[in-house]
Amino acid sequence: MSTTTTAPPVSKRIAWAPIFYIGGIHVLALLAVVPAFFSWSGLLICLALHWLTGGIGICLVYHRLLTHRSFKLWPKWLEYPLTIIGMTASEGGAIGWVADHRRHHAYSDEEQDTHSPLRGLFWAHMGWFMVTDETSRHGEAYYKRWAPDLYRDPVQRFFDNYFLIFPMALFAGLYAAGQWYGGLGMSWLIWGGFVRTLFVWHTTWLVNSASHVWGYRTHATRDQSTNLWWCAALTYGEGWHNNHHAFQTSARHGLDWWEVDPTYWTIKLMQVFGLASEIKLPKVRKNADGTIVETDVRPAVPPTTAAAPSCPPAVAPAPREVRSEMQQTSA
Ligand SMILES: [Zn+2]
Ligand SMILES: [Zn+2]
Repeated sequence: MSTTTTAPPVSKRIAWAPIFYIGGIHVLALLAVVPAFFSWSGLLICLALHWLTGGIGICLVYHRLLTHRSFKLWPKWLEYPLTIIGMTASEGGAIGWVADHRRHHAYSDEEQDTHSPLRGLFWAHMGWFMVTDETSRHGEAYYKRWAPDLYRDPVQRFFDNYFLIFPMALFAGLYAAGQWYGGLGMSWLIWGGFVRTLFVWHTTWLVNSASHVWGYRTHATRDQSTNLWWCAALTYGEGWHNNHHAFQTSARHGLDWWEVDPTYWTIKLMQVFGLASEIKLPKVRKNADGTIVETDVRPAVPPTTAAAPSCPPAVAPAPREVRSEMQQTSA
């Protein structure tokens, strides 16, 4: 955490659109307390879609594939249906999500961090998208700076502009399928739609909040990122966040034997079927005395340089410096 600078004043302009949407889903999810709307099939769909839209859509596709390119996908067009799965989590299009997350890595826990816990746990969890921040306003300049690879793709630009089509289509599909199955339209819509969306949001947001505050730190990264087992359990391995900040391009986040990482297992399964290749792992080398040295880290971006608009970063911002020596390599 930076000790030489202070957080700039937060914009007071309320971002009404996300507040209405996110607030609306919170209110609609309250319908789940009505016993008449409960069904076991609705609960099962809720859990299955949490995995599909959160675990696959956000954790595997938006984060490990599109943000960090931690493996190569084949065929390339598969990226589009996978992005559609990501959009059904209602966390926006991929370009905006990727841009915000790369900025988080470039300025982790500093004043320019997209969602720094410097401003409190609530800010890191969900407060950051409730006000308009001019420095991270989603638009051409921001996208070209932080996600130029995705912004070049007209399909991804279309997705980013009209992402709401996809969660809405899923809500409608859940209602129609439930009705067809046996008059369970409202149950499937509430549990598979609203409750599941809420569940995906808060579990993935925990990575930004709880995994920068609680837990243990294996690697002395410059940020405050932590490995937090219960966050990892809720996010299919994403809660091993200190490992991730240390090795940002690694497809594997759980590095010790107890650090269960189902998202990495899924990528390995995709490899079996030829869908994933060139899977990146932490690169290490051994010194003559047997000590292990991390070798895939690059110098940190000096905040003053990286903040200048005239100095755009590469496709992915350089990871933070890691000062510790790695005790565990990879499988
Ligand atoms: Zn982080
Ligand atoms: Zn990341």
